[in-house]
Amino acid sequence: MAARVLADHVEHVTVLERDRLHPPPDGDARRGAPQGRHIHLLLAGGSRVVERYFPGMDADLAAAGAPGGDCGLRMITHFPTCPLPRCRLGFDVRFASRALRERLIRERLDRDARITFRDGALVKGLLGERGRVAGVRLRRDAGGEEALRAGLVVAACGREAPVPDWLEEIGCGAPREEIVDAHLSYASRWYQARSADTRDWDLAIDMPSAPHQRRGGAAMRHEDGRWLVTLQGIAGARAPTGDAEFVAWTRSLRVPEIHALIQDAEPISPIHGFGRTANRRRHFEEMARFPDGLVVLGDAVAAFNPVYGQGMSVAALGAQELDACLRAERARTGAPGLDGLSRRFQRRLAHLTDMPWQFATGEDFRWPETAGRRPGATQRFVRAYSDQVMHLIEDDAEAARTLMRVLHFLDPPTALFRPTLAGRVIEHAAGSALAGARGLAGGAAARLFTLAERRGGGG
Ligand SMILES: Cc1cc2nc3c(=O)[nH]c(=O)nc-3n(C[C@H](O)[C@H](O)[C@H](O)COP(=O)(O)OP(=O)(O)OC[C@H]3O[C@@H](n4cnc5c(N)ncnc54)[C@H](O)[C@@H]3O)c2cc1C
Repeated sequence: MAARVLADHVEHVTVLERDRLHPPPDGDARRGAPQGRHIHLLLAGGSRVVERYFPGMDADLAAAGAPGGDCGLRMITHFPTCPLPRCRLGFDVRFASRALRERLIRERLDRDARITFRDGALVKGLLGERGRVAGVRLRRDAGGEEALRAGLVVAACGREAPVPDWLEEIGCGAPREEIVDAHLSYASRWYQARSADTRDWDLAIDMPSAPHQRRGGAAMRHEDGRWLVTLQGIAGARAPTGDAEFVAWTRSLRVPEIHALIQDAEPISPIHGFGRTANRRRHFEEMARFPDGLVVLGDAVAAFNPVYGQGMSVAALGAQELDACLRAERARTGAPGLDGLSRRFQRRLAHLTDMPWQFATGEDFRWPETAGRRPGATQRFVRAYSDQVMHLIEDDAEAARTLMRVLHFLDPPTALFRPTLAGRVIEHAAGSALAGARGLAGGAAARLFTLAERRGGGG
């Protein structure tokens, strides 16, 4: 996404990737992106950003066989509080493997003369020069090291990226890091349905619910008719990687469709576990000596508990923000303008990251076992309020639509505080103490509105 965005602003873009990509890797996961073995749902908001930069991508996914349709009709969702009713939500989602999404995007980039891929190239550090970044040091897997100069380096190298070490090495210091760990684990296995597959849904999810339901799971139909079943254990419950335990776990879920599916399907892969799932955020925007010539985005800045499916969308929104920064500079000076871009971009990205970070960590702190700095009063209020919205959705299609649009990054969280919905929340929550609660929640909602407006309205 960053490469596609940059191509509109700079002379040439070189993508450095440690894995070998040509010929395209077989199977579901490359070494550098092991998360590809687990269900990857791209939220509708992220999908719109992808479509903006790669017009026709959704049609390409559909042509490759990826199912899709209205999010409320094609998905069965059990939220922590209650099931989401199967109703039309008015926006679509596409169900595709991570590997297919990567392949289709890479094919587009391969056709773009402004972009060159160099695979088998492991970045080892930054070239520091007079307080700015002037390129990278890399090691080719064919052998040999190399210094590659560049006007701008974009570090989009994922959750495990050692960018703070690289910055220390060139004398810039390291960013403050926050870690919130709910001790979540994943286990996933591919299945092939035995009989003709006439299910009227493509994704079924049961989310873990504090304080007792530490087990979650999901089953998603993919482009080739295969199903990927992903189990999640939180707050210390370990998602099982043994055959019998895997089946038993699905039996214990609140969405019976997941167990029924695997009873009618053949396992066609080993079970793969995954445990590096803590929320981790690096505050590059606070650094006094953050150098020009470098921007950092995606998981390298903020990696989230993956249960909430935010990661790829936030990465895509980050790339879109980089585009906006470069456009603003061009409008101001008539040139691409890379000086000062780095700090400006990291500040704007930090603002964009606040909402998904607060959502993921706020949800994780429902578990007493979660390690990290606990949320403040505003975050606790928003969580309590959104709990009330969740209680409403069972019988209130409009509340369900609003909540799902917010969770899919189509609307800002302030949409949950619109007067019509806030009124229904208060009525539901307060019962006989209606009048007092209205004053309290109305005042708090007004304060949040003011806060959001002061911050630019984006939430
Ligand atoms: C188990 C799990 C399930 C998830 N499910 C979802 C989901 O349902 N929906 C969702 O939106 N997100 C999900 N995510 C999150 C999503 O995978 C990430 O947020 C997203 O991939 C981040 O993109 P990125 O480009 O920042 O990093 P990555 O996709 O991790 O890509 C980093 C790339 O950099 C390369 N690289 C790393 N270091 C170097 C180096 N030194 N030199 C050269 N190349 C290097 C790697 O090989 C890799 O190709 C999930 C994550 C996990 C762990």
